[in-house]
Amino acid sequence: MKKDICYVTTAYNGEVRVIIVDAINTVRKALLIHNVKKEHKSFFGEFILASLIMGETFKQHESVYLKLASNIGEMVASSDNKGNVKADIEVNDENTIKSGTLNVIRQLDDKSIYNSTIEINSDNISDIFTSYYLTSDQTLTCIKTSCTFKSEGILDHAFGFMLQLLPAASVETKKNINKVFDYEDLFSKDIEHILSLLTGSSHTLVFEQNLKYFCDCTKEKYYTKLIALDKKTIDSIIKDNTDVEIVCPFCHKKYVFNKKELEEIYKTK
Ligand SMILES: [Zn+2]
Repeated sequence: MKKDICYVTTAYNGEVRVIIVDAINTVRKALLIHNVKKEHKSFFGEFILASLIMGETFKQHESVYLKLASNIGEMVASSDNKGNVKADIEVNDENTIKSGTLNVIRQLDDKSIYNSTIEINSDNISDIFTSYYLTSDQTLTCIKTSCTFKSEGILDHAFGFMLQLLPAASVETKKNINKVFDYEDLFSKDIEHILSLLTGSSHTLVFEQNLKYFCDCTKEKYYTKLIALDKKTIDSIIKDNTDVEIVCPFCHKKYVFNKKELEEIYKTK
């Protein structure tokens, strides 16, 4: 099986940064874990692609937490610069976004946090993220994501790219970049085909990286969450005489804490 991959490149004499991802396995896994309804599959899949692309713009040890909240519910995703992403979706029966927000919390290497939120009124992920970069990042950046499905609902492709123009980009380069959006067959073949169309066949590879759906949860992490509860709450859980089962929202792995473990936590209070 072909691995999911990201290429980070520069093109047009270094005037444009091009990041491109093929993440069909990653999106398939996310859709499977969360048993996503047909109507929301593309939306959730493209949200994951945008999250992966954003992660690739970061430096080492940086990560981002994205939350898209609207009248149809909530989607969250977390990604880093190592090609890892995890996500969750909680939606209702509505299918069309009327209003909502995209919240982007970026954690830098030194643990400092950049938090920004934009209003959204569209369910087009490409438009939402392009608007985010224009508003919050103030860079000439365009994000385009695409998930298509076969008639049986099986994911056929999951591609995404980012084009970022440097301030010094020439008028000619801007014209060339605009042409990209007229290609009808942009997502019809493989990632190499898309890259050659986006870069006018000439690019410099900065780095490439495999992508995956990866949850870093451990029992210790959830132990820390339990320990944060107040003494009274823990006492009432112990008195209920049942094990506490915590399901990780990102990978659905179950962690069970028995009475003895809960009593240990109680003792620390
Ligand atoms: Zn997990």
